[in-house]
This record gives sequence, C-alpha cells and structure tokens, in this order.
Amino acid sequence: MRVRRRRTVALALGAILVLALVVVLLPGSHRDGAASGARVPAAGGPTPARVKTPTAQEQQEREYQHEDDQDAAVAAVRAYTPFVTEGGRRGHDIALTFDDGPGPYTPGVLSVLERYRVHATFFEIGAMLQWFSASTVRALHDGDVIGDHTETHPEMALLSAREQHEQLREQMARIELAGGPRPVLFRPPYGSYDATTMRELRKLHLLMVLWSDDTEDYKQPGVSAIVQRVLAGAHPGAIILLHDAGGTRTQEIQALPTIIRDLRARGYRLVTVPQLLEDDPPPPGQTLPSSLAGD
Ligand code: ZN
Repeated sequence: MRVRRRRTVALALGAILVLALVVVLLPGSHRDGAASGARVPAAGGPTPARVKTPTAQEQQEREYQHEDDQDAAVAAVRAYTPFVTEGGRRGHDIALTFDDGPGPYTPGVLSVLERYRVHATFFEIGAMLQWFSASTVRALHDGDVIGDHTETHPEMALLSAREQHEQLREQMARIELAGGPRPVLFRPPYGSYDATTMRELRKLHLLMVLWSDDTEDYKQPGVSAIVQRVLAGAHPGAIILLHDAGGTRTQEIQALPTIIRDLRARGYRLVTVPQLLEDDPPPPGQTLPSSLAGD
C-alpha cells in the first residue's frame, strides 16, 4: 500500500515536471510569456542576450590581475615589516592556514574548502611534492595560496646561511615547477628562525607569516577541541594555524565544516593571507616574537 502510494506520488511529480518543461520549452513562452498568454512569470534578471560572459582570456587576465594585487599587498606590508602574526583588527577577515602538506589528507581538506568555497593558505614542504604534487595543482586551481615551509622542514635557526637559503629556494623552485606563482610568503617550521633567516627572507622577497592562534591540532586533541580553539582565537585579522599533513588529519577534516560555518555565522570572511593583508594590513611597529611554539 505504502509502496503504491509512493509510486503514485512519483508518477504525479513526473507529470508535473514534464508539464513544466513543456511550458518552459514552448517557443516564445519564456521571454515573451506575457504576449503569448503563457503563465510564465517575467524573468527578474537581465535577459540572457545582454549577459556578457567573460572569455577564457578575460577570465585569465582577471586572475592574473588578482594575483598581482595580492602580490602588491604582500610587498606593501613587507616594506614596513619583515613578518606578520595577524592582520589589522579593522575588518572581518580571518585567514585559515595549513602547514606541512601536501600529504595524503590534503585532498580531504581541499574537498571541504571547495564545498564551502573557502580560500586558504597552505605552507607546503617542498620534498612532499615528490608524492603529492596533484594536491598542490588542485589547490592552485581552487585559488588557494601556496607559501614556503622549507624543503625538508628543519629548524632554520640551527642551519648555516647557505643551508637556510637552499631550504627556501628549493621549495620555491618546486612550487614553480608545479605551475604555481613563486611563493611570497614563508612560515618557519617549529617557529624557528634567527637573524640569518630574516636576511635570507629579505633577499628572496619573502614575508614571514607567523600566526595569532596555534590550535595545536597536530597533537590530535579531538574534533571539538580543534573547533573550540579556532573559535577562541577568532578575531578580526586572525591568522589561524592548522595542519593538513605531518600525521593523521581526519580530525581537522571533520572539524573544518563546523569551523567554517561558525566563523561565518559570527560575521567573519575566510580569506587567504595575501587577501587579508590587502583588505586589512597590520599596523607598523610590531615586535618580532623571540620564541614560538608550533609545528
Ligand atoms: Zn610545519
């Protein structure tokens, strides 16, 4: 009985759908609905003929322009500070950042970001691109930003100037090989850097991006703990430290939808670090932290 009723409902729905299609597809019934007497409401938006779809070339040029603007925003900030821990506190932007990828969990992170149309910043380890470069290509295609997290994830402060330079430069070369723009952002593994690091960064035109909120997600504290820590650190201009590799990252993937929905519900816009710096740059005169935890 219940099955039959369901089938009847399905048949009725099908008939309605066919009728609707016939009405929509009748010649002249859509745009000229009023004149022909068909009961189709007048279209609210502009007629299709007037909508100018950008050509592939125009789209590409727009993307390049966007990239240039973001590079210019980073360069403008680098002109008065070699590092940032957060943006200004005047806007509504928050930057989610993911370290240590690309790795086996990166596609899962990217899928959530894509589903919610969020752009993030990934600080990638160059050596990881040997196995997981497809994720880097995918992130770039999505409009995410890739920063430098060194070639092999060492403590930079323990290395010579030459070694530090190579760590930075090799990763940059790999990103360019993957089709990305040359990185303009750097995040130090373990928050380790010294005066030599700052000199090498200047030579390579890299801005050091620290963070205002370390979620310590790499310790796998549980999905709700990760969500709580992100929300606790949320404020205009916040740069939030998360990881998409370097261990099992299922907790981050599970926490992300809630993080995104809750931050948006509080009125925040989730952006890349360059976008944050363009919208709401930090004030000058910040003090470089002498030591940092993190991974
Ligand atoms: Zn790291």
